[in-house]
Amino acid sequence: LLSYEHAFHAGNHADVLKHASVCALLRALSSKPKPFFYLDTHAGSGCYEIEGHSHHDDVAARLLTAQDGAAISNLLPTAIADYVQIIKPYLSKASYPGSPLIVSDMLELLGQEKAPLCDIFLSNNLQLSELHPSAFALLKQWMSPTPFHCHHRDGLELLNALTPPKPKRGLVLIDPAYEQASEYAQLVDSVSKALTKWRNGIFCIWYPLLSPQRLDRVTHEVVDTPKHGLSEKMVTAFTDIAARLGVGLLDIRFAQQAPSTNIGMYGSGMLIINPPYQIQSTLQGLLQYLQKHLKQGENNLSALSILVPSP
Ligand code: SAM
Repeated sequence: LLSYEHAFHAGNHADVLKHASVCALLRALSSKPKPFFYLDTHAGSGCYEIEGHSHHDDVAARLLTAQDGAAISNLLPTAIADYVQIIKPYLSKASYPGSPLIVSDMLELLGQEKAPLCDIFLSNNLQLSELHPSAFALLKQWMSPTPFHCHHRDGLELLNALTPPKPKRGLVLIDPAYEQASEYAQLVDSVSKALTKWRNGIFCIWYPLLSPQRLDRVTHEVVDTPKHGLSEKMVTAFTDIAARLGVGLLDIRFAQQAPSTNIGMYGSGMLIINPPYQIQSTLQGLLQYLQKHLKQGENNLSALSILVPSP
């Protein structure tokens, strides 16, 4: 338990999808000049060194290179433009920002754009939770100059303690490591409880897409992936819950590769409960961009789907 280290994955295709989507959601939330609540239930350590993890560095760097070409033709989707602007200074120092720094920098960016509204942005209620002791210590250090509150606490427990929040508009990012198979069902249960208390909350839930089988590195035999199919089951459970509660549910998934025995996580997805108005077209632009610049080989598994229409 708690053996997951995000440093080995920082800046990979899943982080790009997750972090660029969160930038898009924050831009949508800030379209109204009103403060909001933000909670990152599994915040990580704040920032990651990517020296020595060249494959991750490569993903983010490729986005940057692609951005320069696209910028000339003025085709860069807003979500990517914001995301790239934020990660660029970190990459130049061989590091990659985690979700708390991405969100903090995005709020600063939005605050600068909407200068007269700066005090409104400062009055946002911003909360972060991280359970791993050393990751939490680093998180506290990284976030000390910001208005974020850091909690050394179980993220799903905190979610239920803080809902319904004040102010009532807001976004929750749920990005677990899914180390235990039981985490999927626990997440469904906790979010379902929180949503019942806070029907208009925006919940953004990241999940991995796992190949059904993998090659065992020691025995070189093809074995079943134990957690294969659990994300898909979770998506079905959330679809039922959203339909029952009458809230909208959107699913964006990006498959970097086709599933194969050589790759554990071939892609990932984000479920968005109560998606903001017009976010669909922004995310469509993001997905097309990722498919064009990050996809390796052929597959048609990436998709944006409305699982339950917004009321
Ligand atoms: N959200 C981060 C980002 O995008 O940069 C990455 C988070 S990482 C995938 C998952 C984190 O959750 C790890 O740092 C792990 O220590 C932490 N964690 C595991 N179980 C937790 C729990 N029950 N509550 C809060 N954090 C937990």
